[in-house]
Amino acid sequence: MAKKQFKAESKRLLDLMINSIYTHQEIFLREIISNASDAIDKLAYTALTDDKVGISRDQFAITIVRNKDAGTLTVSDNGIGMNKEEMEENLGTICKSGSLGFKQAMEKNEDIDIIGQFGVGFYAAFMVASNVTVISKKYGEDTAWQWTSNGADGYTITQSQRENPGTDIIMTLKADTEEEKYSRFLEEYEIRSLIKKYSDYIRYPIRMEVSKSRLKADCPEDKPEYESYQEEDTLNSMIPIWQRAKKDVTEEEYNSFYREKFYDFTEPLRVIHSSAEGTVSFKALLFIPGKAPYDFYTKDFKRGLQLYSSGVMIMENCEDLLPEHFRFVRGVVDSQDLSLNISREMLQHNRQLTLIARNIEKKIKSELAAMLENEREKFESFYSVFGRQLKYGTVADYGAHKEATQDLLLFYSHKQGKMITLKEYVDAMAEGQEKIYYAPGENKDRLSKLPQVRALVEKGYDVLLFTDEVDEFIPQTLMTYSEKQFCNASTEDLGLQSEEEKKAIEEKAEEMKEFLTFVKDTLGEQIKEVKLSGNLGSAPACMTSASGVSFEMEKYMRRVNPDMALPSERILELNPEHPAVQAMQSALISDTQKARDYAALLCAQATLLAELPLEDPMAYTELVCKLMK
Ligand code: ADP
Repeated sequence: MAKKQFKAESKRLLDLMINSIYTHQEIFLREIISNASDAIDKLAYTALTDDKVGISRDQFAITIVRNKDAGTLTVSDNGIGMNKEEMEENLGTICKSGSLGFKQAMEKNEDIDIIGQFGVGFYAAFMVASNVTVISKKYGEDTAWQWTSNGADGYTITQSQRENPGTDIIMTLKADTEEEKYSRFLEEYEIRSLIKKYSDYIRYPIRMEVSKSRLKADCPEDKPEYESYQEEDTLNSMIPIWQRAKKDVTEEEYNSFYREKFYDFTEPLRVIHSSAEGTVSFKALLFIPGKAPYDFYTKDFKRGLQLYSSGVMIMENCEDLLPEHFRFVRGVVDSQDLSLNISREMLQHNRQLTLIARNIEKKIKSELAAMLENEREKFESFYSVFGRQLKYGTVADYGAHKEATQDLLLFYSHKQGKMITLKEYVDAMAEGQEKIYYAPGENKDRLSKLPQVRALVEKGYDVLLFTDEVDEFIPQTLMTYSEKQFCNASTEDLGLQSEEEKKAIEEKAEEMKEFLTFVKDTLGEQIKEVKLSGNLGSAPACMTSASGVSFEMEKYMRRVNPDMALPSERILELNPEHPAVQAMQSALISDTQKARDYAALLCAQATLLAELPLEDPMAYTELVCKLMK
């Protein structure tokens, strides 16, 4: 029988399979099993209208036979089967529709990744087998056919024997080498775990002879003896938990599924089980974990959901299904609209995936909002773990995703002494209050003592204390919330003064112009401006920053990248009503040096209050001692 050659592109795919990297090899079984399942689907479908099929639904099965002596692994199905022409057509060429995307990827030389991601069909068998023989009998025909190939140089098709319709794929495994042990695919444990991992939810039973042990029939009771025997077992559970109705799944089932699937010992905080029908149909089972994986806030962490198509896992980690701001969510998505065939071209079918992703994002958002509304404590515990991710998500891409996240953010309220949302802040705003005030800094207690914060508190206004580095970027990104502007209490005009008060301060500043210039000249370059403020309450002075780089940003940059750090521009604000400032003013008349010392002293105090380091702490101590003498 003359050998036939594979078509050119099939040959390339084969070469790729034969030389594929080791870690990808195990997916061959998933591919073969999924073909078997498709073939059964087809016959089961035929059976709906054709009573000659003579097989009832529960007789359909996929059987795996391990033959260690021959070194073969056989996967059989009682599905539709193939005739000679179909073998030629389907197995001789890289098949028509299904592998289009694959072909294109190959042309772009992206092939290696594609193997891992999408699966490659029947030829995957050549990753592990030196010879593949297919014996098949098509339903409704009398002759069985055998296709056989060792991959490299073509294939032959000959007549064969098979009693019933269906197909056997007989794979002679490659010989073991030092590094690559193909014989592992003959071990019960290996097959079991591959089926669990990739094909657990195939709708037909996958059966295999496995060894079991039992108590020997006539051994004495006090001396139990066991014998081992072989028995056929079903390896897959068939019905994925996400395909079941919500009301039929217990909390414990959800939790244990989560723990096993995602290797997390902590219970999930929330389970989201949803399904959609319409333009695109899918089922999703999502979990909000109770704790962050150790690498969560690093680049190593890979976000994504597991993607299934009708029970067959097609991608372990599909990034496109999950937006970055919800990257903490784990789970699976199953859509029959992405059949295995389609999945191979998924790169081109982004539209469906995008629809699913958008739907999932909405769902997660509304579930988190519901948790915030109804289970505050739980939400806060979630927020303590993943809140920072929501904040990152809010500021990322210039706020492009803020609609999804801004209502979920919590900040510490000075007035209420607890975490509140922006909405709660706005709802509780005092009569006449125009802005959302916040104060960034490292420590809540110290922030509460800032003169500006005190001034606001005296007015009955609340202040959000921003103690997380990313916090300060949020007002900058949002600009407004609920039409209210944000105001950084430590740098911006608090807007507390009436027009008259403002005018009074301006007049006072004009009056004290000489004095203010003196202070500015004394302090030199370290201060950009010295001005009067009517906002300081009982404090003599405070430091604010000119717009641009705030103190917190300066500190952050210094930590992260000291060479690139931009200094903030400092403004020293003085309280003209305070005795210390007045003392400095009188000193200017009698003792200029003393006035200089006072200026330096107040400036140092304001620097410390702003939690900024003193340029020269030694000079400061000496100054204090000098004045005490
Ligand atoms: P795909 O499954 O994407 O079509 P494959 O390379 O896996 O690509 O298979 C090629 C074709 O071979 C299938 O479309 C199917 O027609 C046929 N085939 C493969 N395995 C079987 C099987 N077990 N029974 C019947 N037909 C099969």
